Amino acid sequence: MTHTLITLPYAPEALEPVISRETIGYHHGKHLQAYVDNLNKLAAGTEYEDMPLEDIVRKAQGGIFNNAGQILNHNLYFTQFAPAAGAANGPCGKLAEAINREFGSFEAFKAEFEQKGVTLFGSGWVWLAADKDGRPVITQEQNAGNPVTQGLKPLMTMDVWEHAYYIDYRNRRTAHLQALWQIINWEEINRRYTA
Ligand code: MN
Repeated sequence: MTHTLITLPYAPEALEPVISRETIGYHHGKHLQAYVDNLNKLAAGTEYEDMPLEDIVRKAQGGIFNNAGQILNHNLYFTQFAPAAGAANGPCGKLAEAINREFGSFEAFKAEFEQKGVTLFGSGWVWLAADKDGRPVITQEQNAGNPVTQGLKPLMTMDVWEHAYYIDYRNRRTAHLQALWQIINWEEINRRYTA
Protein backbone atom coordinates (compact mmCIF):
# COMPACT_ATOMS: atom_id res chain seq x y z
CA MET A 1 0.00 0.00 0.00
CA THR A 2 1.31 3.38 -0.92
CA HIS A 3 0.30 5.97 1.60
CA THR A 4 -0.79 9.36 0.29
CA LEU A 5 -1.19 12.85 1.72
CA ILE A 6 -4.80 13.46 2.80
CA THR A 7 -6.76 16.27 1.16
CA LEU A 8 -7.94 18.90 3.64
CA PRO A 9 -11.74 19.18 3.94
CA TYR A 10 -11.46 23.03 4.01
CA ALA A 11 -9.47 25.78 2.29
CA PRO A 12 -5.97 26.41 3.76
CA GLU A 13 -7.04 29.83 5.09
CA ALA A 14 -10.42 28.61 6.42
CA LEU A 15 -9.20 28.15 10.02
CA GLU A 16 -7.76 31.67 10.39
CA PRO A 17 -7.12 33.34 12.73
CA VAL A 18 -6.87 30.25 14.97
CA ILE A 19 -4.50 28.47 12.54
CA SER A 20 -2.96 30.53 9.73
CA ARG A 21 -2.72 29.56 6.09
CA GLU A 22 1.07 29.60 6.50
CA THR A 23 0.96 27.08 9.36
CA ILE A 24 -1.40 24.82 7.39
CA GLY A 25 0.97 25.07 4.43
CA TYR A 26 3.97 23.88 6.44
CA HIS A 27 2.15 21.48 8.74
CA HIS A 28 0.10 19.67 6.09
CA GLY A 29 2.18 20.35 3.00
CA LYS A 30 5.68 19.82 4.46
CA HIS A 31 5.62 17.99 7.80
CA LEU A 32 2.83 15.50 7.01
CA GLN A 33 4.10 15.03 3.46
CA ALA A 34 7.52 14.10 4.87
CA TYR A 35 6.00 11.45 7.18
CA VAL A 36 4.12 9.98 4.19
CA ASP A 37 7.26 9.90 2.04
CA ASN A 38 9.35 8.41 4.87
CA LEU A 39 6.84 5.63 5.62
CA ASN A 40 6.56 4.67 1.96
CA LYS A 41 10.36 4.34 1.78
CA LEU A 42 10.78 2.52 5.11
CA ALA A 43 7.86 0.08 4.65
CA ALA A 44 8.73 -0.91 1.07
CA GLY A 45 9.64 -4.59 0.91
CA THR A 46 8.73 -5.25 4.58
CA GLU A 47 5.73 -6.96 6.21
CA TYR A 48 4.26 -3.47 6.70
CA GLU A 49 4.15 -2.61 3.00
CA ASP A 50 0.45 -3.46 2.46
CA MET A 51 -0.76 -3.06 6.05
CA PRO A 52 -3.44 -0.49 7.01
CA LEU A 53 -2.09 2.45 9.00
CA GLU A 54 -3.75 1.55 12.33
CA ASP A 55 -2.35 -1.97 12.17
CA ILE A 56 1.16 -0.63 11.51
CA VAL A 57 0.83 1.65 14.54
CA ARG A 58 -0.26 -1.29 16.71
CA LYS A 59 2.58 -3.56 15.58
CA ALA A 60 5.62 -1.61 14.39
CA GLN A 61 8.49 -0.01 16.28
CA GLY A 62 11.23 2.47 15.48
CA GLY A 63 11.09 4.55 12.31
CA ILE A 64 8.12 2.72 10.79
CA PHE A 65 6.07 3.24 13.99
CA ASN A 66 7.11 6.90 14.22
CA ASN A 67 6.17 7.81 10.65
CA ALA A 68 2.98 5.70 10.56
CA GLY A 69 1.92 7.13 13.93
CA GLN A 70 2.46 10.66 12.73
CA ILE A 71 0.38 10.02 9.59
CA LEU A 72 -2.48 8.49 11.60
CA ASN A 73 -2.31 11.31 14.16
CA HIS A 74 -2.25 14.10 11.58
CA ASN A 75 -5.04 12.50 9.49
CA LEU A 76 -7.29 12.52 12.56
CA TYR A 77 -6.08 16.01 13.52
CA PHE A 78 -6.60 17.78 10.19
CA THR A 79 -10.02 16.22 9.57
CA GLN A 80 -11.41 17.26 12.98
CA PHE A 81 -11.52 21.00 12.21
CA ALA A 82 -14.08 23.35 10.68
CA PRO A 83 -14.14 27.16 10.35
CA ALA A 84 -14.58 28.86 13.75
CA ALA A 85 -18.08 28.32 15.12
CA GLY A 86 -17.81 30.82 17.98
CA ALA A 87 -17.25 30.59 21.72
CA ALA A 88 -20.29 28.37 22.27
CA ASN A 89 -18.83 25.59 20.09
CA GLY A 90 -19.02 22.34 22.04
CA PRO A 91 -19.78 18.61 22.05
CA CYS A 92 -23.07 17.26 20.72
CA GLY A 93 -25.07 14.05 20.77
CA LYS A 94 -24.06 10.95 22.73
CA LEU A 95 -20.52 12.26 23.19
CA ALA A 96 -21.78 15.41 24.94
CA GLU A 97 -23.71 13.21 27.39
CA ALA A 98 -20.66 11.00 27.99
CA ILE A 99 -18.34 13.98 28.59
CA ASN A 100 -20.78 15.50 31.08
CA ARG A 101 -21.14 12.17 32.87
CA GLU A 102 -17.38 11.55 33.06
CA PHE A 103 -15.98 15.05 33.66
CA GLY A 104 -18.97 16.87 35.20
CA SER A 105 -19.13 19.52 32.47
CA PHE A 106 -17.57 20.55 29.16
CA GLU A 107 -15.75 23.37 31.02
CA ALA A 108 -14.19 20.87 33.45
CA PHE A 109 -13.22 18.60 30.55
CA LYS A 110 -11.59 21.50 28.68
CA ALA A 111 -9.63 22.56 31.76
CA GLU A 112 -8.24 19.04 32.26
CA PHE A 113 -7.46 18.65 28.55
CA GLU A 114 -5.60 21.98 28.40
CA GLN A 115 -3.69 21.13 31.57
CA LYS A 116 -2.57 17.82 30.05
CA GLY A 117 -1.48 19.69 26.91
CA VAL A 118 0.47 22.32 28.80
CA THR A 119 2.23 19.81 31.05
CA LEU A 120 3.23 17.35 28.29
CA PHE A 121 7.00 17.79 28.27
CA GLY A 122 8.54 17.94 24.80
CA SER A 123 6.74 16.85 21.64
CA GLY A 124 3.54 14.83 21.56
CA TRP A 125 -0.24 14.78 21.47
CA VAL A 126 -3.12 15.13 23.90
CA TRP A 127 -6.09 12.93 23.07
CA LEU A 128 -9.74 12.53 23.81
CA ALA A 129 -10.32 8.81 23.33
CA ALA A 130 -13.00 6.28 24.28
CA ASP A 131 -12.49 3.01 26.13
CA LYS A 132 -14.25 -0.22 25.17
CA ASP A 133 -17.27 0.75 27.30
CA GLY A 134 -17.58 4.14 25.58
CA ARG A 135 -16.15 6.09 28.51
CA PRO A 136 -14.25 9.21 27.36
CA VAL A 137 -10.67 9.49 28.63
CA ILE A 138 -7.89 12.05 28.13
CA THR A 139 -4.42 10.68 27.38
CA GLN A 140 -0.97 12.22 26.89
CA GLU A 141 1.17 10.61 24.20
CA GLN A 142 4.85 11.31 23.60
CA ASN A 143 6.17 11.94 20.07
CA ALA A 144 4.15 9.83 17.57
CA GLY A 145 1.95 8.08 20.17
CA ASN A 146 -1.69 7.25 19.51
CA PRO A 147 -4.21 5.77 22.02
CA VAL A 148 -4.95 2.83 19.68
CA THR A 149 -1.84 1.20 21.16
CA GLN A 150 -3.71 1.05 24.52
CA GLY A 151 -6.88 -0.38 22.98
CA LEU A 152 -8.63 3.00 22.99
CA LYS A 153 -10.53 4.66 20.14
CA PRO A 154 -8.98 8.04 19.25
CA LEU A 155 -11.60 10.80 18.87
CA MET A 156 -10.02 14.27 19.04
CA THR A 157 -6.48 15.53 19.47
CA MET A 158 -4.28 18.57 19.95
CA ASP A 159 -0.78 18.48 18.48
CA VAL A 160 1.74 19.95 20.93
CA TRP A 161 4.77 19.61 18.66
CA GLU A 162 6.10 23.15 18.25
CA HIS A 163 5.61 22.95 14.47
CA ALA A 164 1.84 23.04 15.11
CA TYR A 165 1.89 26.53 16.67
CA TYR A 166 5.27 28.26 16.49
CA ILE A 167 4.56 30.39 13.39
CA ASP A 168 1.30 31.75 14.84
CA TYR A 169 1.82 31.65 18.61
CA ARG A 170 5.61 31.40 19.04
CA ASN A 171 6.19 29.82 22.48
CA ARG A 172 2.62 30.35 23.72
CA ARG A 173 1.40 26.77 23.68
CA THR A 174 -1.38 27.50 26.19
CA ALA A 175 -2.87 30.27 24.05
CA HIS A 176 -2.81 27.98 21.03
CA LEU A 177 -4.57 25.13 22.86
CA GLN A 178 -7.23 27.51 24.24
CA ALA A 179 -7.90 28.90 20.74
CA LEU A 180 -8.31 25.47 19.11
CA TRP A 181 -11.68 24.84 20.82
CA GLN A 182 -13.23 27.36 18.39
CA ILE A 183 -12.50 25.19 15.35
CA ILE A 184 -13.22 21.68 16.64
CA ASN A 185 -15.91 20.04 14.49
CA TRP A 186 -17.87 18.27 17.22
CA GLU A 187 -20.26 16.63 14.76
CA GLU A 188 -17.24 14.83 13.30
CA ILE A 189 -15.95 13.90 16.79
CA ASN A 190 -19.38 12.57 17.77
CA ARG A 191 -19.49 10.61 14.49
CA ARG A 192 -16.17 8.96 15.41
CA TYR A 193 -17.48 8.25 18.91
CA THR A 194 -20.67 6.57 17.73
CA ALA A 195 -19.14 4.78 14.70
MN1 MN B 1 2.17 18.01 13.71
